[in-house]
Amino acid sequence: MTTPESKRALIFGISGQDGALLARLLLKRGYEVHGTSRDHEVASFANLRRLGIYDQVRLHSASLGDYRAIIEIISAVRPAEIYNLAAQSSVGLSFSQPVNTINSTMFGAINVLEALRFLKLGARLYNASSGECFGNTGSQGATEESAFHPRSPYAVGKAAAHWAVANYRDSFDLYACSGLLFNHESTLRPRRFVTRKIAAGVAEIAGGRAERLKLGQLDIVRDWGWAEEYVAAMWLMLQQGTPADYVVATGEPHALREFVEEAFRYVGLDWTKHVDYDPALSRPSDVAFSVGRPDKARAELGWTPRARMRDVVKRLIEEELRLSRDLASDEL
Ligand code: NDP
Repeated sequence: MTTPESKRALIFGISGQDGALLARLLLKRGYEVHGTSRDHEVASFANLRRLGIYDQVRLHSASLGDYRAIIEIISAVRPAEIYNLAAQSSVGLSFSQPVNTINSTMFGAINVLEALRFLKLGARLYNASSGECFGNTGSQGATEESAFHPRSPYAVGKAAAHWAVANYRDSFDLYACSGLLFNHESTLRPRRFVTRKIAAGVAEIAGGRAERLKLGQLDIVRDWGWAEEYVAAMWLMLQQGTPADYVVATGEPHALREFVEEAFRYVGLDWTKHVDYDPALSRPSDVAFSVGRPDKARAELGWTPRARMRDVVKRLIEEELRLSRDLASDEL
């Protein structure tokens, strides 16, 4: 067995929200950070640039569907820690791209596990699982012991990958963990995610550039946290004596209606005068109530969620208002 470098990390999916935030955290902690995109020569790495760390990370191309590419990149980098974040990550989009989604969530994780089993480098693996695996959690919230009832192609793929991680950990003595993360947001989120869509829409309405916002079901209940805190939990999972899976969440349920109400209230507007229900935005099967209980992460990792739904709304809206002001001054 050969030993990987101790403070060298490889992030599959470094261009995304979590990948960029995790890269920044690892750099601050003195890691040499490598990351992949499916095609790093065409990817813009806008998130890495926005965080000002584009020049500090080493970028590679790798598709998780390609076992050979994974073997090559892990052999070349020889990381001590691997974070698999790459996937088609939108639940909504997974209904129209089920094969792409399941390929990326499930087979991507299995290819990484197979590569670790084959290479025997002793690298530790974090795999991005999801609170979506639980489906409806009920108001008591999901723990690591709760049953899975996936309700989308995305959740089906994530659930299969979750069990593959557990199986490889038990069968081949790998240090591999799954993070059952519930929704976590940041200003790096793309606009197809409802939180960013709401924040951007509210800023446009407040600035007089739009009047109405179309949304799907507002009764759904979610558990929203702040992504920067959640990537710290990923890192903590790989610093333990023994590998395990953890729920990472705030533990606070909020209806999407409350999120919308809070966002409009922040700019002094009444949401009922600006929001239209669009049935086309509802999913074929949705999770009505999703909340996690992060008791194990608190007790074993010492991880505590700080930002709550109202903080998330405030930070997203402030960023959108800042972007609107920049746009307005550019137009002058
Ligand atoms: P993003 O969508 O921001 O980033 C995911 C990255 O994966 C992208 O940058 C992209 O990189 C790569 N990717 C996209 N589509 C595919 C595909 N079909 N096959 C392979 N790679 C692909 O996601 P987040 O950063 O928000 O999330 C990180 C991980 O955590 C994901 O696996 C997500 O499913 C999971 N997760 C996220 C939650 C959240 O609330 N944010 C909650 C729970 C789990 P490139 O285009 O450069 O190749």
